[in-house]
Amino acid sequence: MTDLAVQCTGLTKRYDGVKAVDGVDLTVRSGETLSIVGPSGSGKTTILRIIAGFETIDEGTVILQGVPVSTPQTSIPPERRRVGFVFQEHALFPHKTVAENVSFGLHKMPANDRRKRQEDVLDLVQLSHYAQRYPHELSGGERQRVALARSLAPKPSVLLLDEPFSGLDANLRLRIREEVKTILAASGATVIFVTHDQEGALFMGDTIAIIDKGKIEQTGAPQQVFHAPVTKFAARFLGTADFLRGTYHDGKVETEIGVFPASMEGSGECEVMTRPDDIYLAPSDDGPGAIVSRTFQGIHNLYRVELPSGAMLRASRPTTNPTPQATEWTSALLPTTPPAASP
Ligand code: ADP
Ligand code: MG
Repeated sequence: MTDLAVQCTGLTKRYDGVKAVDGVDLTVRSGETLSIVGPSGSGKTTILRIIAGFETIDEGTVILQGVPVSTPQTSIPPERRRVGFVFQEHALFPHKTVAENVSFGLHKMPANDRRKRQEDVLDLVQLSHYAQRYPHELSGGERQRVALARSLAPKPSVLLLDEPFSGLDANLRLRIREEVKTILAASGATVIFVTHDQEGALFMGDTIAIIDKGKIEQTGAPQQVFHAPVTKFAARFLGTADFLRGTYHDGKVETEIGVFPASMEGSGECEVMTRPDDIYLAPSDDGPGAIVSRTFQGIHNLYRVELPSGAMLRASRPTTNPTPQATEWTSALLPTTPPAASP
């Protein structure tokens, strides 16, 4: 028996001959959360709709708990897949109470079991005291928790979350996100979480898959995709990234801000990615860079630093610490962690 809850291989979906999903491979282990992150229109919702059984595929296979459910020739209907779905617009039934909404998918259970399960999941999302309320009597965050309870109630083999927080304002989004992560961990659910928000993806996912134009660019642990992106798109999509020209040889890479360890064999040209917190700034008369601007960003100031070649780097420093003055020369622009280098 496999511990892979979801296995997608070579998924391809065309609309009018255009590939919305292009040869996508994804796996999710039981009890883990996969975040799929990518810009709008990159195919995220289409992948979820395929896994749920709402869309057919042109190529590839979807296997849920070891059972093939989608191939180009066959498709098991959504109601037989045990897949839960939460959308951005938590579509609760407006004329049903919270309790009725949650027990909606449990109609095949004996009445006693249904009530027990409904009570358990409302407990899990900490809304037992609102069981008799109607959706319009709840806040946006509470409605989202009811939607989550409803989709968890039938114990789905996989739960699909399609940008579930994007309708919430910033502060509420952070709080609900933490609550949902805790609830999902307690429930042991296997989850695929889709978002265009890199920070949300890194927060929610045990594994991150970065998607662009229907293709997965990189899959890995959050730290891995953030610090060692394999493409420039992946580097930029997950956070501020700058690139320096480098030459590498003998396990080192030389750049105009210094020499760093490199993992590549042989020698050649490469680009080195830096993120603002990799760069340490210190005032100096003869350093390799000049600060051209400083932007206050709350916790950090973001400095733009021009190098002799004309290349620009961004560097961040806490706003509560003494900071170098704009227009001062800087030296010793040393990454605090080895930068990711790629040939
Ligand atoms: P995302 O969720 O990442 O924003 P979608 O999966 O919704 O992206 O869409 C991916 C691409 O497929 C888009 O270019 C979109 O216009 C197209 N698409 C999605 N659904 C349909 C459809 N039913 N008919 C035609 N094109 C579609
Ligand atoms: Mg979408």
